Amino acid sequence: MFTKILIANRGEIACRVAATARRMGIKTVAVYSEADANAKHVAVCDEAILIGPAPAKESYLRADKIIQVALATGAQAIHPGYGFLSENADFADACAKAGLVFIGPPASAIRAMGSKSAAKSLMEKANVPLVPGYHGETQDADLLQNEADRIGYPVLLKASAGGGGKGMRVIENSLDFKAALASCKREAISSFGDDKVLAEKYLQRPRHIEIQVFADTHGDCVYLFERDCSVQRRHQKVLEEAPAPGMPPERRAAMGEAAVAAAKAVGYVGAGTVEFIANQDGSFYFMEMNTRLQVEHPVTEMITGTDLVEWQLRVAAGEKLPLQQSELKIHGHAIEARVYAENPEKGFLPSIGTLRHARTPVAVNFELGGSADPAAFRIDSGVREGDSISPFYDPMIAKMIVWGKDRTEALARMAQALSQYQIVGLSSNIAFLKRLIESTAFSGADLDTGLIERNQAELFPEQVPASLAVLSLASVALLLSEKKSGDDPWQSSQGWRMNSNLQRALQFDEETQTHQVQVTYLERSWQVQAGTASALVTLAKVDGSDITLKIGEQTVQGTVVRDGEHFHVFSQGAHTNLHYKDALAHAGEAEAEGGRLTAPMPGKIVAVMVQAGQEVKKGDALVIMEAMKMEHTIAAPHDGVVDEVLYSVGDQVTEGAPLLSFKQD
Ligand code: ADP
Repeated sequence: MFTKILIANRGEIACRVAATARRMGIKTVAVYSEADANAKHVAVCDEAILIGPAPAKESYLRADKIIQVALATGAQAIHPGYGFLSENADFADACAKAGLVFIGPPASAIRAMGSKSAAKSLMEKANVPLVPGYHGETQDADLLQNEADRIGYPVLLKASAGGGGKGMRVIENSLDFKAALASCKREAISSFGDDKVLAEKYLQRPRHIEIQVFADTHGDCVYLFERDCSVQRRHQKVLEEAPAPGMPPERRAAMGEAAVAAAKAVGYVGAGTVEFIANQDGSFYFMEMNTRLQVEHPVTEMITGTDLVEWQLRVAAGEKLPLQQSELKIHGHAIEARVYAENPEKGFLPSIGTLRHARTPVAVNFELGGSADPAAFRIDSGVREGDSISPFYDPMIAKMIVWGKDRTEALARMAQALSQYQIVGLSSNIAFLKRLIESTAFSGADLDTGLIERNQAELFPEQVPASLAVLSLASVALLLSEKKSGDDPWQSSQGWRMNSNLQRALQFDEETQTHQVQVTYLERSWQVQAGTASALVTLAKVDGSDITLKIGEQTVQGTVVRDGEHFHVFSQGAHTNLHYKDALAHAGEAEAEGGRLTAPMPGKIVAVMVQAGQEVKKGDALVIMEAMKMEHTIAAPHDGVVDEVLYSVGDQVTEGAPLLSFKQD
């Protein structure tokens, strides 16, 4: 076994690999970019070496630098994690040349599976079923359009070198083809440096089911069953579970064997995932093979009782697979939720910022009075409170994984864990994940890749206005923060008597609601009134940001975190963001800047579709920005005339920068 490895990655996966290495007594070397000097993965490894500036191209993708660091620090092997260099065959070759072990498959297997189109041709020969489509070499736009017409709409265009759901476009009819092709190729070039595309039939209501395979250098290859990753947004996974609901044992074996055949066809070694797209009737087609450890590998670990990183290390060191096919069994059910820094209400736009407050549900009481069962609950995270989610890398905050003896128990535990997860400082999808877990479709296992789009009404309900309890928590937190330290009004009632019957009017705004709260100071308590609701409120306990109130006859606990003018109230499993409108601070403030369209996040302008003076209709694309490797279209909010375009293609813009001004009709 190795005594020291280098981890050529960052975030949760670097921390995940380091944890297993540490358990096995293997020393770890982290590499990091300037943006990650204080990152968690740097702290959890035994050594850490700076390899370059923030952009991945200048750091995490610098194969030469990383190999140099491995040699200089005496590491014998490199674990690439996922993303970055993990599926880079040249890097695998360069490692071998330098006398280092690449913890992954042989370069030849990466190459064979690296291009979605080449892999499809190979699988066709190995008799693995494929979705009808075109995956040829010729990339002429007219030919591609003819092929799409032949396949029949809707057609899916995919970047052949793509991954992570990027570079994909669904085309509904031939008229839209050329525009979609151009946009797909643009995203493919900027994300993968290769604009080759393939086209295939876009299946209706498909499920994404993938098989975990593992092969060693002694000719053995096993499958560790399936994961259902159907719940996606923008073709990117949000929830993953194992086993797949409703999977009959015979189909499981058939898919497992097809996956092993696919792996064997390319001389595979190590951890790999064969992705299938399945129709509701159970028929399945090969989509692609990911030649690395997958983000969602923990659900497989939980149901099989394995540590797949340990398997990777053992196989890379030349050992045999720890278990044979006949020894692998499914035990219970596991679900993973990806906690992202993003705004589900705004089209899942990535959010960036600092985790000013982050409390993970470590003490989840699964059984009444019990403590969290480590075998049933896991959080893999690469960030801690105080860390930032930057525009340079993936906006994933953490993965939360739970296990239950069956799906129902796993779902209940996940819902409970999510309601205890608190984040302030950036938008997250936690509340959305909870609604998703509890939705009729997901809890009823009515799965397909369009689940989120199909259930908009249930998943994006009207905001429920903050309750009197939530408003009381925020008001009390505000009053507490205004009190000078050392002056504790609840111990000495002195101050209160003097102020008795003093009234305060507080205003808290939610996205779509305004709350006027009247607080009347009484001796040792307050009368709090909002709208028609009113109650006598007393402070039962305060411990940092944790506040317990007696509101009428009810005892209410909550955590209130103040972030500037915002009060984030976490109570009864919900998070309410209240904007405190201090009347004085806002006096004389200018009206909202009408007619200006601003950048929703920092990024680069990749296309400007309009010119000054041009008339546009509501919904027309005005500017396309690229941020976090994804394209975002800025559309006209209403009919009008473009007044001035303030940036041109290639310009870098900051968050909130006005992009163009606009005159309403
Ligand atoms: P990536 O490598 O970017 O993840 P994949 O080829 O794995 O791309 O596809 C990602 C997702 O896109 C799938 O999980 C599925 O939801 C959807 N998808 C891919 N191919 C098809 C198809 N032919 N029809 C319908 N949906 C598809």
